[in-house]
Amino acid sequence: MSTGWLLAVNLGSAAMAGIGLLFAVVWVIDRGRTCALYFAGAIALYIISGIALSLNLAIALAASIHGVLFPVAMVWLADAVLRRVGDRLPRGIALAYLVPSILLVWYFAYVSPLLVGRMITQNLGTAVLLMAVAHRLWKRTPTSGADKTAVSAVTALSVVLGGNAVAALLSKVPHETITDADWDAYLQSNLSLGVRVAATIVLPACMVALLAVTVLDMVEELRFQRDRDELTGLLNRRGFNRCAETLLAGEEFCALVLADLDNFKTVNDTWGHSGGDRVLVAFAAMLSDAGEDGWVIGRLGGEEFAVLQPAVGVESAVAWAESVRIRMVEQGFGRDAGSASVTASFGVAAGQPQTTLTELLDVADNALYRAKSKGRNQTVVMS
Ligand code: GH3
Ligand code: MG
Ligand code: MG
Repeated sequence: MSTGWLLAVNLGSAAMAGIGLLFAVVWVIDRGRTCALYFAGAIALYIISGIALSLNLAIALAASIHGVLFPVAMVWLADAVLRRVGDRLPRGIALAYLVPSILLVWYFAYVSPLLVGRMITQNLGTAVLLMAVAHRLWKRTPTSGADKTAVSAVTALSVVLGGNAVAALLSKVPHETITDADWDAYLQSNLSLGVRVAATIVLPACMVALLAVTVLDMVEELRFQRDRDELTGLLNRRGFNRCAETLLAGEEFCALVLADLDNFKTVNDTWGHSGGDRVLVAFAAMLSDAGEDGWVIGRLGGEEFAVLQPAVGVESAVAWAESVRIRMVEQGFGRDAGSASVTASFGVAAGQPQTTLTELLDVADNALYRAKSKGRNQTVVMS
């Protein structure tokens, strides 16, 4: 083997080993992210399949071992990409790829030894498999940058492997690389160039992209959990503050409505904590349903909720709060057999261009306090 070729292949394998290790680290950090484990496994198997080719074995034996390990690695890779979005590689597709691939490589190793036959089989088969995976991902209409990156990475890999299959078809490489002259002839071919580019540049680059996407998924999930209230699914106080401050920065005027369930301690005492939780979830859903796109709705804590309404005047905000309050009364919100329905009090504040979130919250809180002291189940506005 020429030293240049060896160096290129080793660099590719070293890069892949590093990426595989990082996938394993991601999985250790977040055990629930099984796609990372499959990515790591696919890379490990891919590297072992390469080692099998470089061992001092008979060509047919080495090619047959590689002919099993490589496609299994590609099936794991395909499965990992789909697992990332909660999908799986259908068993039928995996078998339709694995069985012919392994048999054909075995045929071109023992029955009719032919290097090009093996290469076309593996490159073309894998290109088709990955194209099917990219298509399956695309059908899910990827919206986030991470999803689109994953589709692009898989497509790029598929295109390059497909290109290698065509290069193999057109090349005049020897049947087998037995003598040094065979090796030289192979190394001169476009096929060898294509394989080097795929193994040392395209594959590692695609895997880095998929690693970045997997890490991004993890960060996004943590960020989501950080800003969400687990019980109701609404923004928590931190998430509400973050979104509200962003919204206030770009808004001329707005209204803030604070809502607090009345006598909620009694609800807990009557129906238990889990009954109280159900009421909280139902109230959160009611606010969400009544809210409009672009509004920031959060659970600030306990049974207190906030709704920031951009470009909404104070009269409209009061009317909105009243509509929610009256609907609760009319439908006997949260009523169980024999018990009274749950009501809520609302405090409304109007925001001007210079108003800060803290000021808005203070004013709305005062309004809410007034609503409580005036007997609850009502809406009070303060300017
Ligand atoms: P008021 O009409 O003045 O608002 O009276 P209240 O009883 O609703 O208000 P208070 O703030 O005294 O009590 C709130 C209760 O909400 C106390 C607490 O146990 C309950 N609570 C807070 N968080 C949760 C929760 O996540 N689930 C349940 N079930 N109860 C909660
Ligand atoms: Mg309350
Ligand atoms: Mg309260």
